[in-house]
Amino acid sequence: MRAEVVRGTKPGPVVWISSSVHGDELNGVEITRQVFRKLKPENLVGTIIIVPVVNVFGFNQEMRYLPDRRDLNRSFPGSKRGSMAARLANTFMTEVVKKCDLGIDLHTAAKGRYNLPQLRGDISDPFMTELARAFAAPIFIHGKPPTRSLRRAANDLGIPVVLYEAGEADRLDMTSIEIGKIGILRVLRSLKMLTRAPVSTTEELLISNSTKWVRAKRSGLLRLDVSTGDFVQKKQKIGVIGDAYGDRIYRVEAPISGLIISHATKPLLNQGDPIIHIATLDRPE
Ligand SMILES: [Zn+2]
Repeated sequence: MRAEVVRGTKPGPVVWISSSVHGDELNGVEITRQVFRKLKPENLVGTIIIVPVVNVFGFNQEMRYLPDRRDLNRSFPGSKRGSMAARLANTFMTEVVKKCDLGIDLHTAAKGRYNLPQLRGDISDPFMTELARAFAAPIFIHGKPPTRSLRRAANDLGIPVVLYEAGEADRLDMTSIEIGKIGILRVLRSLKMLTRAPVSTTEELLISNSTKWVRAKRSGLLRLDVSTGDFVQKKQKIGVIGDAYGDRIYRVEAPISGLIISHATKPLLNQGDPIIHIATLDRPE
């Protein structure tokens, strides 16, 4: 696990930016590369630690998990003498997290899905909402961090984590990369670590308190009429699932109104497979 450290000429907060905790999630690697090229010690207050590839083993094998099949993002805070995942998590906690005041962790959707660029965090935390406003991703989704995730382990030490999810595994998505890069620079500016960075022009922050997956009630071939980023109304037809001959067609409807924040990129579905993920929208704040 290699880290790039940029130490500003003036002392200030220490922030880490991590990517590829899931080894096949690549957008964050490109985001960290682009952010790193923008950082100059003379314009920086504090220190930035960049770890483009946390799960090096998964990255080399184009795999989400580690060679021992464990999910690194369910292995934090880890331990010195535990499994491979536990040891890697422990190293990251000791060498990076514990030295920082804030973290930015970059993810994409899992294989077979595409995520709208989005921030995840606790909307009841005013500091996190302020950072989300600065980042200005298309939407900020409320959620507690999963047990044994990096975000949870850092939060347990009182260290906040900005979690950005965008695009899909195994791909570089230029829109997701651009929004992520600009968002990080804006967050650093809002922390007064950078004097020069774009300011958010978004006046309203879209916030969602709850989300719902629409799952396939039948197996078959999905023809989707909508895509990530579209707004849907309750009972709106979002597509059909059919068989290979077109004999049987099953209509798929949106069970709630909201913004589509993720969709399945593979058309072949088994019963129960996710089709789209809808976020209900709260009043803009
Ligand atoms: Zn991930």
